[in-house]
Amino acid sequence: MVPFLFGLSYLIYVTVRYFYWYNIKPIEPQYKRVLEKYFVYYNNLTPALKGVFERRVSLFVRAKDFYGQHGLEVTDEMRVLIAATGVQITFGFKFFQLPRFTKIFIFPEEYYSRITKKKHKGEVHPMGRVIKLSWNNFLKGFENPSDGINLGLHEMTHAMSLENSFASNGVSNFINPSAYRVWHKLAVTEMNIIRTTNNSIFRKYAATNIEEFLAVSVEVFFEQTVQFYEYNPMLYKATCNLLGQDTLPRKMKR
Ligand SMILES: [Zn+2]
Repeated sequence: MVPFLFGLSYLIYVTVRYFYWYNIKPIEPQYKRVLEKYFVYYNNLTPALKGVFERRVSLFVRAKDFYGQHGLEVTDEMRVLIAATGVQITFGFKFFQLPRFTKIFIFPEEYYSRITKKKHKGEVHPMGRVIKLSWNNFLKGFENPSDGINLGLHEMTHAMSLENSFASNGVSNFINPSAYRVWHKLAVTEMNIIRTTNNSIFRKYAATNIEEFLAVSVEVFFEQTVQFYEYNPMLYKATCNLLGQDTLPRKMKR
């Protein structure tokens, strides 16, 4: 009886998974138009991977509540670009939607924080389950896709890293521990170079702590891929192994 029940539950699990992924309705046409118009990462994917990316974006948008702050009206463009940034960061992993974070607050511009008494461009609050973003700075990240600065990628990397450490969210520990160990050693060395010289490709803020280094280096990983690889191939490869993806053009790889 027990093996039968076990077999039955497995069959139900496989069926549900199948329908979840393959019988799901295609991405909303207006969402797809936003991706095609603005999202370089998506436009560089193969047709098959574009399909996977679209499904993930569509599910991500439906899984989150988006709140415009200070009178800002939330548009489809905002929902899709924010969701796509979350999907980009996690594209090398089995699908998940950063489940810890259910609310996304969008501010028109930098906003005042009562905690730090400073203006913020964005932040993540795991206890409040919130990701906060200022829309003007989020857009700046897209206006110049090769300056190594992208607020959306930065905050989503913090969210992804936090998800990895929450045992209760059902998706934790997706980062390979040995890949993390290799990356961490190289990251600490690079943080010392940032602190003591002006020679690093990464901005000074990256040396604040290991989480800020991760967030800043992921911005550079996606926006200045070739420069990152040429500057520090070992750290570049360690970042690929950490994220489970590599966007370096094939002809560059040695
Ligand atoms: Zn940060």
